[in-house]
Amino acid sequence: MGLIAGTVVLALSGLLCGSFLNVCILRIPAGESVVTVPSHCPGCDRRLRPPELIPVLSWISLRSRCRGCGARISAQYPLVEAANAALWVLAAVFRGFTAFLPLECAVLSALLGLSVIDARTREIPPVFNVFIGVCGILRIAVALISPETGVRGVGDAAPYIVGAVAVSVPLGIVYLASGGRAIGGGDLKLLAACGLFLGWRLVVLGFFAGCVLGAAIHLARMRISGAERALALGPYLSAGMALAMLLGERAISWYLGLIGR
Ligand SMILES: [Zn+2]
Repeated sequence: MGLIAGTVVLALSGLLCGSFLNVCILRIPAGESVVTVPSHCPGCDRRLRPPELIPVLSWISLRSRCRGCGARISAQYPLVEAANAALWVLAAVFRGFTAFLPLECAVLSALLGLSVIDARTREIPPVFNVFIGVCGILRIAVALISPETGVRGVGDAAPYIVGAVAVSVPLGIVYLASGGRAIGGGDLKLLAACGLFLGWRLVVLGFFAGCVLGAAIHLARMRISGAERALALGPYLSAGMALAMLLGERAISWYLGLIGR
């Protein structure tokens, strides 16, 4: 399969999985099943027909309204679908078509989903952190069996196991010392799961990138719209982790080159 064909297939799969991600975003915080109940309009419960399940296009063709009850359909749906497809294509562009790509795409989708939920509800559902942690374990397994990585032994899993505790444990102490006010328990589990997936170097980098992004964007929002002082950290941490996954290795090599190592 050519590179362009591969990228097109990846983008289309990203749209479809983005559609499923919308279902997760809507139902997981409400405690509903994401598989047994067919897709329906949240306004009138009308079951969606196949053409209405096509990502992005259906939202545009319906002019963002339900055909049954005329209720507005949130722009969140096409935006999540498009963002998911974009993240998957970026993963292929920056990380290449390797054996790790499916896991990298899965983690990027989970980061996107938990960000939207955290921004709305101030909670990261535990299932997202468990999912990322499982992807981390699978990533280590793939590294150990895949010839393309040149990994030699179980000892090569060490950076990932260190990654799981590198940021989460120091911040866990801050969490305990502050009585849970400085950082949330869900954020800590997110940092542990991402550390297991990314390894210690990238999770440290991603954490700092997330903090810088969070501080900059949140200060701007407080100035412009008078947003509240308390912020949901999940979206910023997730953005930092996604940046670290996509660009971290390049940033580290660039920096090492700069200081002459
Ligand atoms: Zn409806």
